[in-house]
Amino acid sequence: MNIKKQASCALSAQPDDAELELINQFSRKQLAAQEVYTFAVRLCDNEIDRDGERFECGTLEELAKLFVGKTGIFDHQWTAAGQTARLYRTEVVEEPGVLTAAGDGCRYVKGYAYVLRTAGNEELIAQLEGGILREVSVGCAVERAVCSVCGKQAGSCAHRKGEVYDGKLCYTSLQGAADAFEWSFVAVPAQPKAGVLKHKGYTEMKELAGQEGWAHEVEQLEKQAELGRRYLSALRNEVVRLNGLTGEGVDHEVMEAIAEKLGEKELLELRRVYADKAAKRFPLVTQLDHGMKQQEKPVDGAFLI
Ligand SMILES: [Zn+2]
Repeated sequence: MNIKKQASCALSAQPDDAELELINQFSRKQLAAQEVYTFAVRLCDNEIDRDGERFECGTLEELAKLFVGKTGIFDHQWTAAGQTARLYRTEVVEEPGVLTAAGDGCRYVKGYAYVLRTAGNEELIAQLEGGILREVSVGCAVERAVCSVCGKQAGSCAHRKGEVYDGKLCYTSLQGAADAFEWSFVAVPAQPKAGVLKHKGYTEMKELAGQEGWAHEVEQLEKQAELGRRYLSALRNEVVRLNGLTGEGVDHEVMEAIAEKLGEKELLELRRVYADKAAKRFPLVTQLDHGMKQQEKPVDGAFLI
């Protein structure tokens, strides 16, 4: 499917009253229709991209909400002058009759943006109208990247992206929009096929890692992320264990499933509550708990007789 046949940036005129009201939610001073220039952009879609990844439809819906109010920048040549556009409305739009490589209907997040009609923005608006500024790149983060065939974490199974298994195409499914950062216009008249339509924080990290001067930075971040994952995993195990020790807790498997979904804050609170309960039931258990720490610090009053 050729997603470039549709311009990423649709032209627009002055906003009507309803649109203006939305715009003014984000503006410090009340703007009149003739003070703003509005246009539409195609932010991201559910087609499988060059990295073999794609946003699921649900993720697109979530991203659409997250992008409202986010500012867009106009490449490096513009940012110095502080030119920005702001998304005041988004929606997920179906592309009738167009199928993705995965075989379902193509959808994309359409963003409606405005820039101020100031003297400084005249050239920018001319470029928008001239269709030179067409491609946008978005920065966002997702919670999960899973294999489309087996549902396991991407990279943890033997399925290969691009291959077909029992009629199912393998790709990395990006699920759960965690955050939308910013979006930016990139002038790409020289490379109409450059495909900057879809960028994700996740992918950008991989790209950065291959760039000079960034490999170390990315490696450090990956190490920190790995430490964080191990810490959370240990915390989850402890909550599940303590839940069992309370004697009145939730079924072990159910607790495991619940703990998998919780973040640090909730896990710490559960650990506190369960540890208290467990301590009342088995006073020794908590001593064991403390005892583990005491092994690291052998000089402790409790064990000095
Ligand atoms: Zn798989």
